[in-house]
Order: sequence, then C-alpha cells, then structure tokens
Amino acid sequence: MNNYIEIIQPDDWHVHFREGDMLEMVTNFSSRINNRCVAMPNTLISITDTEKALTYKEQLIKASNNNFVPLIPCYLNDKLNLDNFRMGLQKKIFFGSKLYPTNATTNSKDGVTEISKIFKLLEVLEEEGSPLLIHGEKVAENIDIFDREKYFIDDELDTIRNKFPFLKIVLEHVSTSHGVRYIKENSNIGGTITPHHMLLTKKDVFLNEKFNPHHFCMPVVKNETDLIELRKAACYDNSKFFLGTDSAPHPIHEKKSDMSSKPGIFSAPCSIELYAEIFDQENAINNLEIFSSINGAKFYNFPLNEKKIKLEKTEWIVPELSSYKDIQVKNFYANEKINWKVVH
Ligand SMILES: [Zn+2]
Repeated sequence: MNNYIEIIQPDDWHVHFREGDMLEMVTNFSSRINNRCVAMPNTLISITDTEKALTYKEQLIKASNNNFVPLIPCYLNDKLNLDNFRMGLQKKIFFGSKLYPTNATTNSKDGVTEISKIFKLLEVLEEEGSPLLIHGEKVAENIDIFDREKYFIDDELDTIRNKFPFLKIVLEHVSTSHGVRYIKENSNIGGTITPHHMLLTKKDVFLNEKFNPHHFCMPVVKNETDLIELRKAACYDNSKFFLGTDSAPHPIHEKKSDMSSKPGIFSAPCSIELYAEIFDQENAINNLEIFSSINGAKFYNFPLNEKKIKLEKTEWIVPELSSYKDIQVKNFYANEKINWKVVH
C-alpha cells in the first residue's frame, strides 16, 4: 500500500476569498496548496467590471505568501457594460464569467433574474471562447430546495446550450446524480465537485428537525445515491470532472441555527487532504492527480503546473477554528480525523 503520493500541484477551480481580513486569512490556506484558484466574484460589491477585477486580483496576490494565480470571472448581470465586458475577456482580466441566478446563494441579489436578459453577454463569451461558470440552481417558491439543480438543468441550462452550442460551460459544485449524468452525456461542459458533496448527505444538515449550519451550503447536500454518483464521477469517470472546493467562509457568528444562516462550508484548511481521503476510500488514490491537477487545466486550456506536492498517509485532527484578527471561522471536518496530510 502507498504511504505517500506525489502529484502535480493542484488548482482549485472554485474558491470564495471574500474581502478584507477574511480575504487575508483564507488566501493563505488556498495558496498553500494550489497554483491557480478561481476567485468567485460574489464579493460584497460584486465584480462587474475590469477595474474591480484588477483591484481584487491585486488584493489576492498581496495576501498570498506564495506564487499564486487568482483567476476572476466577471459577475454577470443585465447591467454590465458590453464593451468593458468584451475588453476584459480579451485582455484576460476576466477569467470568463459567472452566472448566479438571483438569490441562489451568498451575495447573489444582483444576479441574473432571467436568462434571456443576458443572451447578448453569452454571445460575447461564445465569440471570445471564454468559459461560462454556473451556479446551477433555479430558485422559485414552488421549487423544493433539493430540486433546484435539476430544474436549472432542465429549464435553463438546456436553453443556454441549445442557443450557444460552442459556449464552454462549467456546472459548478455538481450536487446530484442528474447533474453528473447531464455533464457526461453532453459536450462542451465540465463540472467541479466539492469534498463536502462527497462526504455529507441531507441528514448531516437537517436531522430530527435539528439544523446544522456548519454543513449548510448552496447547493445543499443531497441523498446518498447522489453522493455515490459524485464519488464515482470524481474517482473513476473523471475526464470531465475536476477539483473545485467551493470553500466559502463565513464568520462563526453568521452561522445561525436555522435556515436564515449564511450558506457556505469552509474547507480550505483541509481540502486536498479530504479529496485524498475520499479517493483512498474508493480505492482510487492513483486517480487523484487527474482530478486535482490535470482535468481542469486541460478543460480550460492551461499548461499543467510544473511543481509537485507530496501527501503522506499520516493521521491528523482538523482544528475546530481558523482565526485571524477579529475573525473566527469554523473549519469543515472540525475535530475529525483525516488520514492524509500534505508534507511538500
Ligand atoms: Zn461557490
């Protein structure tokens, strides 16, 4: 049995860095492991133009100790300036763009109310060969929270793909077997998978009416059948699936004990180790590198990273909290044992 593995340095294709002190704290965690990170643009003031993207990129680079490449998608909404949008894509100031349906998750109130209102922007993306990253949930009063991904795929994603067949799409944080199937069966589309969607089911969030805010995220974790399909997709069918932690910190006081809680799971202090744990459980540790360091780069046409990192099979316990200045964030997997650790 392998006691250690060496893999090409990973990239994290979906991370929330937030802003201010929080940004300073979490950037260090993500840049300890990854070369490139897609920094999600749903900050307090959404990143909707090139000036905001450049300022944000600078803040991220400054907060990182290592050589680290933040990639920032433009936050889509129907008020964007089309010329600035195109220029940002051409000059690679934007890394494609991100579609948040309105009110689907944290800071998405300025998102997209109706897909048809952004057709012009999608046309530009397609012309420029830039990717569309999607938070794939349809939010409506009559749609159950567990069915949002399915409705988005069937009602909205299919429309987008039919209208823009050459647009390169990533369905972020795939959370259902329906999503896995859709990605496998269609072209020009890939998916990121988080560690928590492969470790938790809805019982870990809602058990006997007791709500656990630290396991509450969007899209919410689903059933065991979904978890199994996600594990298979990541570990075995994995040419179209790649690493995206969706590490999404909130200060501990914003985690309330009911559904008014901010959604998001902070996994950056242990994310690559959790992926290793999952791949090992599935007898697929040798496939970790393809998922963590190869598929995403290939999908986005980046060169593979040159550095390598080493993980050793050694037990450690994830600390309860991450703290910095006045901020405290509860870590995902707090006080639990993981069998893999990065040793560099
Ligand atoms: Zn996210």
